[in-house]
Amino acid sequence: MSAAIQTCLNCGNLSFPSRLFCPECGQENFATVLVDHGDVAETTRLSDGTLLATLKIPGGPFVVGRVTGGTATYGDRLLLANHLNNDGVFAYLPLHSPVNEETTNEEQP
Ligand SMILES: [Zn+2]
Repeated sequence: MSAAIQTCLNCGNLSFPSRLFCPECGQENFATVLVDHGDVAETTRLSDGTLLATLKIPGGPFVVGRVTGGTATYGDRLLLANHLNNDGVFAYLPLHSPVNEETTNEEQP
């Protein structure tokens, strides 16, 4: 289980959602990398019961995902996925759009 996010081919900066230009170096050439997990920094329960989590990707950005399959609290390490058809507790991120990507590293079948 993993989620696709954008990496800068010049400096390696990770971004989610996708950027038109790298916020670190200003270049505009990107690829897709897969990240496995993020660490919960904060959670928010919506009025309809949906649990959102702000997660820190190690070496990367904070992302907001929907917690699926259970619950999570500060400090938990959650698996990340771009699809909802997984078992167990994980954070769902919508599939990123490949902006300015000439190549992709598709390691997932
Ligand atoms: Zn960069």
